[in-house]
Amino acid sequence: MHTLGIVVPCYNEEAALPETARRLSLLLEDMQNKGKIGADSRVYFVDDGSSDATWQIICGLSETYPFVRGMKLSRNQGHQSALLAGLMHARGDCLISIDADLQDDLAAIESMLDAYAAGADIVYGVRKSRKSDAFFKRWTAEWYYRILAAMGVEVVFNHADYRLMSRRSVDALREFGEVNLFLRGIIPKLGFNTATVYYDRSERIAGESKYPLRKMLALALQGVTSFSVFPLRVITFLGFLISAISLLVVGWVLWVRFVAGEAVPGWSSIVLPMSLLGGIQLLSLGVIGEYLGKIYMETKQRPRYFIQEVVARDNPESEE
Ligand code: UDP
Ligand code: MG
Repeated sequence: MHTLGIVVPCYNEEAALPETARRLSLLLEDMQNKGKIGADSRVYFVDDGSSDATWQIICGLSETYPFVRGMKLSRNQGHQSALLAGLMHARGDCLISIDADLQDDLAAIESMLDAYAAGADIVYGVRKSRKSDAFFKRWTAEWYYRILAAMGVEVVFNHADYRLMSRRSVDALREFGEVNLFLRGIIPKLGFNTATVYYDRSERIAGESKYPLRKMLALALQGVTSFSVFPLRVITFLGFLISAISLLVVGWVLWVRFVAGEAVPGWSSIVLPMSLLGGIQLLSLGVIGEYLGKIYMETKQRPRYFIQEVVARDNPESEE
């Protein structure tokens, strides 16, 4: 029987936690009765340095419910780091990450487990629609996914951090030494067998969003700058463009100066260097950017591959 670990990052979630624990407990019981998970399945609440009673509540819950485990981070590290801490620490053959506010439909967990049993290592929870989001959030979020994809960052459209990971994919994730975490971008890089489960997202069960615009923008920027040197490349492109344009300007200036003869004295000697230098400077910045981009990618020391399966030859010696 597979052991399931559910990882729940919590930041100031005192209002939502008791209900979350109650519903998760019903779910675990149900899954155990159906024979889909083992009796040693657990829920790991990760307190991300909350300033309210979150940690006391987690401690209380661990006494009420035998399957509840808790861990507390030394300070508020942000959702992504709290999630990673939980994933690295939790036990189980497969781990599911879910937000504490239960906006993500718990019913999808059964489908995730089925996909896992059928051989998937990573099962992405994908929202069917963004009906429960305000217009602004929906619009910015959907465009953000599109822009990321256009810049060559692999992301699963409308998938956040609701997903199942098998033990070996979690071990693979462990090898990424990234300080700037954007899990949505890293997980597709792991490979392995993947599957997708669709679900409806509802409103928070209690409390307020812990993702103000500031944190959301920071995460969005992280997604771009941790996975793509595209912005640096734009500078190179601009440099080429402006250099080319300035060549045209050279021709024009020479024509005004020598053919049309309308130039005010000193005009050409100002306009020419200005446009040429502008182009050359941007181009040089772009070149430096290219190298910086390389260094940046190198310093991450990302693992370059993971072995998914090996076939053993029956008797390797006998072939010699
Ligand atoms: N969270 C966290 N650390 C933070 C901010 C949020 O662990 O610094 C957790 C939060 O407790 C919740 C999840 O991340 O479980 C998602 O946050 P929230 O539901 O507030 O985001 P939203 O759904 O509004 O985007
Ligand atoms: Mg939420």
